[in-house]
Amino acid sequence: MLEIYNSLKRQKEVFEPLKKGQVRMYVCGPTVYDEPHIGHLRSVYVFEVMRNYLAKSSHKYEVTFVRNVTDIDDKIIEKARSSNGDLSLETKNVSTRFYSLYHENLIKFGIRDPDHEPWATKHIPDMIKFISGLIDRNIAYLSDGDVYYDVKKFPGYGKLSHQDTDAILKNVRIEKNEKKRNPLDFALWKKSKEGEPFWESPWSKGRPGWHIECSAMSQKYLGDVFDIHGGGLDLIFPHHENEIAQFEGLTGTNPVSYWVHHGLITVNGQKMSKSLKNFITLKTLEDKNPHAIEDLKMLFLLTHYSMPLDYSEEKMQMARAIRERFLNFFDKASQLTSKTKTELVSFGSDIERAMDNDFNTPQVLAVFHNMIDLAYARLIQHKQADLFLDTARKIRLFFEKVLCLDMDPAKLRVVDKELKQEIEEGIYQRDEAKRNKNFKLADKIRQKLLAKGILLTDLPGGKTEWRKL
Ligand SMILES: [Zn+2]
Repeated sequence: MLEIYNSLKRQKEVFEPLKKGQVRMYVCGPTVYDEPHIGHLRSVYVFEVMRNYLAKSSHKYEVTFVRNVTDIDDKIIEKARSSNGDLSLETKNVSTRFYSLYHENLIKFGIRDPDHEPWATKHIPDMIKFISGLIDRNIAYLSDGDVYYDVKKFPGYGKLSHQDTDAILKNVRIEKNEKKRNPLDFALWKKSKEGEPFWESPWSKGRPGWHIECSAMSQKYLGDVFDIHGGGLDLIFPHHENEIAQFEGLTGTNPVSYWVHHGLITVNGQKMSKSLKNFITLKTLEDKNPHAIEDLKMLFLLTHYSMPLDYSEEKMQMARAIRERFLNFFDKASQLTSKTKTELVSFGSDIERAMDNDFNTPQVLAVFHNMIDLAYARLIQHKQADLFLDTARKIRLFFEKVLCLDMDPAKLRVVDKELKQEIEEGIYQRDEAKRNKNFKLADKIRQKLLAKGILLTDLPGGKTEWRKL
């Protein structure tokens, strides 16, 4: 029985899809105006794991997964201004360039494309239709070419962020805008300023507000009601609050059964920002660590998706040590042979029970460690290779199918260039020392590499094999 924490109800609830056997899921994608950082990666990764689990575990849901791209926004236009060309064209260039970078990161990270990836600028007619519907229902009003949502007309406003409108007014800094009737009203359509990109509409030459993009696109691909809507905790207010207001304002019903939010990333206790120079991208990590992708994924798995995650070098090293424990286990398994060959039919109930608990990956890892401890104990005490191999297959399959983590034990033999050269030279010199019967020197070389975490093993026939400890 899968349970998911629903931000709207502030509790874990048993997951029941609207249509039996099917899950429809929408996740807010990037606004493409800057390089993607590890915060974006965590976001796509946690939802990819959920998507995989829903489809590939014994739940076997048929999942429709939508993640949008916001390719028109103040920040994109701002960036486009820095190059002195035609602003409309440059806006397009900025969004295309940063989308490519984002997509490259996702491919590297082993994230599949969503079933639908709608771009905002390709869905303007859908947004205009949505806004017109709100105006017809007298929930939105026109003001000097802009269209605003009239928050006073929606009594449920604030239910997702669990605050009433007075509290919001007190807590949130809202920019002054004389076109609005009330400070909390938000723009559905904005009249474009001179030179800015624009689209024709019944109200003005302009562009959509950010919040209406997600409502119009989720409705188009998933319908008036769907199962899961995801995003970062920072999107609860105002973005998702406004999405609910728009949707319910138009259709009269709550569009989403489960609102799912992931925690944000800080770096050494601070918010990530370019000005603080702690903006961590995949490229900066990969430049110094050939295993950055796998280590980062393990780091993500070690924290429950809903919790904040504070990034540090030490935590990355801890994640690596844990990952290598699994690799060593799989390496050992690859040296054993089984008498019986059984078909693997499921991941096992312990693993799924942990995952059913609101996608609790730290708990899943704890289950893996217990399974591995037992497998080693049985192997040593009773020489039971079958259990060892069965455990290895189950865990590795779950890593690969659900957690999208490559667990090939050959990775134990991947080290940086310098160390690799040192190992190769060490093996060569040691072979020579052995040929000259200088066993003292041979042992010294072996110990020297051992101190660096490299274990040499002499194979029959005189060959030497190495692996990381
Ligand atoms: Zn959104």
